Amino acid sequence: MDIFEAVASKNHEQVTFCYDEVSGLKAIIAIHDTTLGPALGGTRMWPYKSTEDALTDVLRLARGMTFKSAAAGLNLGGGKAVIIGDPKKPRSETLFRAFGRFVEGLGGRYITAEDSGTDVRCMEWVRMETNWVTGISRALGGSGDPSPVTAQGTFAGMQACAKERWGDDALDGKHVTIQGVGAVGYHLAKLLHRAGAKLTVCDLYDENLRRAVAEFNAEVVDTDAIFDVEADIFAPCALGAVVNDDTLPRLKVEIVAGSANNQLHDERRHGRGLLEKGILYAPDYVINAGGLINVANELEGYNQERALKQANGIYDIMTRVFEIAKREDIPTHKAADNLALRRIAEIGKVKSFFTPPSDRTRVLRGVS
Ligand code: NAD
Repeated sequence: MDIFEAVASKNHEQVTFCYDEVSGLKAIIAIHDTTLGPALGGTRMWPYKSTEDALTDVLRLARGMTFKSAAAGLNLGGGKAVIIGDPKKPRSETLFRAFGRFVEGLGGRYITAEDSGTDVRCMEWVRMETNWVTGISRALGGSGDPSPVTAQGTFAGMQACAKERWGDDALDGKHVTIQGVGAVGYHLAKLLHRAGAKLTVCDLYDENLRRAVAEFNAEVVDTDAIFDVEADIFAPCALGAVVNDDTLPRLKVEIVAGSANNQLHDERRHGRGLLEKGILYAPDYVINAGGLINVANELEGYNQERALKQANGIYDIMTRVFEIAKREDIPTHKAADNLALRRIAEIGKVKSFFTPPSDRTRVLRGVS
């Protein structure tokens, strides 16, 4: 793999390789696009088989963040970091502090947060070396667990789907199946139950199922049977790639709208497949942007009320995605990409206007 070719192929701005001899840190930070603002994206820790695998993953994830932030209307760009290592082994303060110093070295072009394989404690170590980190615990003045805000945004997105499909955004009396009643799925089930929806759920953990039955009167099915349940809405809130060659023909719902990342196994084929089956698909990175909205809020001083309100804005964003899809006769996941790309292009153009800095000598040197 030629590294520059890999970086250039999806127009990444900057890729930083971080190595520290003392802690054994091996990390890659990818900044995809900062047209809208600093690149924000979590740090994933994973025992990648090779540096090439780690690079491929970080480039893909960073680009995804550009689209997610842009579609969510945030003034943030896309970035991500990966640390090559086993998250099951004890975490090392030295390693995360070394990583924090590399983040600091980027001077705010990249803002990190937790992601799979890292947690709030890791980010607290990172924060000892840099302020360019978000998603810190509530105890330290941060935003804490993002799942209630993600669930609120998912609920709002689901209401927009209902409006689009049935002409009314009320979810009262609708039958919703939820795959995974963990952090987000639980809060989503609570909102749906309050709204009068009937729930069928599945999960790997009995404890999570018992909680959903006791609190929301949910019906329980086996994990594989969830795809065969006849219902109004299917909400994937567990894993990626749940819409695939096996499950697509089995789905008997009118809407797929849930919090899971990367729901389409093959974006092009399965996005089109849902459309052809007459199933309305809520693009995952649009409907689950509440988590990102939550951490973005922390940058301005966290306020959960404001974050929840902003997450409700996913209703309007989803409506715009559906308008684009209809106008351009394209699947909704493609319409979401177009919405994001257009915002980046338009704001990028606006930002290219010359505005004078306060320092006159800089103006005379042509520095803006
Ligand atoms: P979680 O781990 O708390 O919950 C996931 C639940 O799914 C668990 O209870 C797990 O037992 C269950 N599960 C796993 N495999 C399953 C299967 N095959 N069938 C049924 N259930 C299964 O995770 P979470 O934080 O609730 O996140 C859920 C999804 O939403 C993930 O895809 C995550 O990437 C995405 N997401 C989460 C947030 C957030 O704020 N937490 C934000 C954006 C996206």
